Amino acid sequence: MLKIKPNYYDNFKCLMGECPSSCCIMWQVVVDKDSLDYYNSLSAPYGDFIRKQIEEIEGEPCFRVNKGRCAFLSEDNLCNIHKKLGQEHMAATCRRFPDFIIKNNDTTLLGQSASCPYVAEQIIKQQNPLFVYEGLCCDEYENIFISLFENLLNAIDAENNFNDCTRIVLSMAENKQKQLFAEYGIEEFFIPEDNKNIYDYIDTLKSLSVLTEDWQNILNRLSEFEWKSSIKNGFTLYMKDRTGEYKNILRYFIYRYIMTFAGQGNVFLPIKFAVISTRILYNAGIMIYKKKGKLTKNHLIKLFYLFCKEIEHSRENLDIFFDDISLGMI
Ligand code: SF4
Repeated sequence: MLKIKPNYYDNFKCLMGECPSSCCIMWQVVVDKDSLDYYNSLSAPYGDFIRKQIEEIEGEPCFRVNKGRCAFLSEDNLCNIHKKLGQEHMAATCRRFPDFIIKNNDTTLLGQSASCPYVAEQIIKQQNPLFVYEGLCCDEYENIFISLFENLLNAIDAENNFNDCTRIVLSMAENKQKQLFAEYGIEEFFIPEDNKNIYDYIDTLKSLSVLTEDWQNILNRLSEFEWKSSIKNGFTLYMKDRTGEYKNILRYFIYRYIMTFAGQGNVFLPIKFAVISTRILYNAGIMIYKKKGKLTKNHLIKLFYLFCKEIEHSRENLDIFFDDISLGMI
């Protein structure tokens, strides 16, 4: 079994009360069965208090959300269940966040979602982004994906211009998709000819259920923004020594999604998703640069975690966005 994790993985530290976008705000947490059984076994008065804060939504027990905040989130932005009962008795979703695991036959990819501001910052600040490997993958088919992943990382390392970088990555993924079709009899995935532009994708993002006002404002401004080449060129020049920050975002999305459709042999779609998502954040960066005359690291970290918060944890949003991306080129 091959296990991969990013080099920042073991140093995670929750920002707790200092978090600028707590995972306990705006999300509906489903309570897993073991935690629910435990909460039901608790005696009054705390047991009663917990049970009153659980409601059924679409057949599932969920923590109540009051004005966008989890019912257990105290005024100092700390979790009341954590304080009273300890971390081990938080619901499984809360305990595990922001970790993700992508398991296939002989590969396991461990990571943390950039919807967490701490993680987004670690990713963007990386000077030497590395992935740590342990063990070997003996599955020939999965090794094709892993070696594509490594080749994409090498290509990203070698190219300094962000836009060229995304073009190279797309073309490598497209070629790999064709090779999978030719050599492995994988169904030929529709590689569309239609051109879509940034406004089309912004429209799709606007049609999803949007969680935060900040993100809604960014989308509104993006859809009205005029993309003049002088502004784009100015931004490219401004970011010339910080291209690594966007390359890190691209590396994150590739890692996060490359194995998503491995079972179906579809590698082009997740890489397109990675490229389009990073380009949207690049364009949002141009927009902020135009307005403020700068794009600080903190601006970019916020854009990054807002995007991931909106997209990565809603199956519905993710599916709609993937569907849209599958239908168009950029
Ligand atoms: S989003 Fe991350 S840093 Fe913020 S409260 Fe949740 S786990 Fe902690």
